[in-house]
Amino acid sequence: MKKLVLQKEEIYSGSLILVNRTYAYKENRSGFPELSLLPGLEEEPEILLQRRAAVLLLYLMDKINGWQGIVPVSGWRSLREQEEIWDSSLKENGRKFTETYVAVPGHSEHQTGLAIDLGRKQDSVDFIRPEFPYTGICGVFRERAAEYGFIERYPEGKEAVTGIGYEPWHFRYVGVPHAGIMEREGLTLEEYIDFLRQFPYGERPYRYCREGQEFLVSYLELSEAITIEIDDSHPYWISGNNADGFVITQERSRHGY
Ligand SMILES: [Zn+2]
Repeated sequence: MKKLVLQKEEIYSGSLILVNRTYAYKENRSGFPELSLLPGLEEEPEILLQRRAAVLLLYLMDKINGWQGIVPVSGWRSLREQEEIWDSSLKENGRKFTETYVAVPGHSEHQTGLAIDLGRKQDSVDFIRPEFPYTGICGVFRERAAEYGFIERYPEGKEAVTGIGYEPWHFRYVGVPHAGIMEREGLTLEEYIDFLRQFPYGERPYRYCREGQEFLVSYLELSEAITIEIDDSHPYWISGNNADGFVITQERSRHGY
């Protein structure tokens, strides 16, 4: 067992942070997440993601030969870029459209470097609402996305939960196994963060098995710095939820320990 000290400010980073109308994105001291170009897509130098999200997207695209029919439309945005998009959309599209499809500056997932808008490759791709259908290569991408840690973030029918209109083109990296759990349980990120409150750390974790691996997921509420003990004989990782605590993920082999 290992002792870990978790600090309050750490709840604002990690692949499971919830950024929406309620929870703003808190930039780190340098003002930027650690960003990386999309490997293999040097011709798109303006599209950046957090390193792990970029690498996993590359693995998925390689697996399905995705770049032949899919283009990256928008990745990481600075607060300033989000403000510019908001202002120009207000002018061009009006308030109702903008509030439905553009996140309020400071509250956009694009600021985290964990979100990407993808479009079907065609002559003209709409920047705010690219086409990303359920058929063809886009459909293949959707089928495999959760395996690589990506979810469709703003599904149809969940607009009241996410506060954003149906956006079939917007994908968010949450990591494995969380994308698979959310898909299996039919949960948006808002609902998943809430759902995990039933599984407090050190009591009864949520168990998820996939391809010979078992994962234990639990929630740890944090109001001030805390020291926890964690089994470090297996891989584990911890993400803030950007609200009030952490999600702790522990990997186990299916058969043992
Ligand atoms: Zn987006």
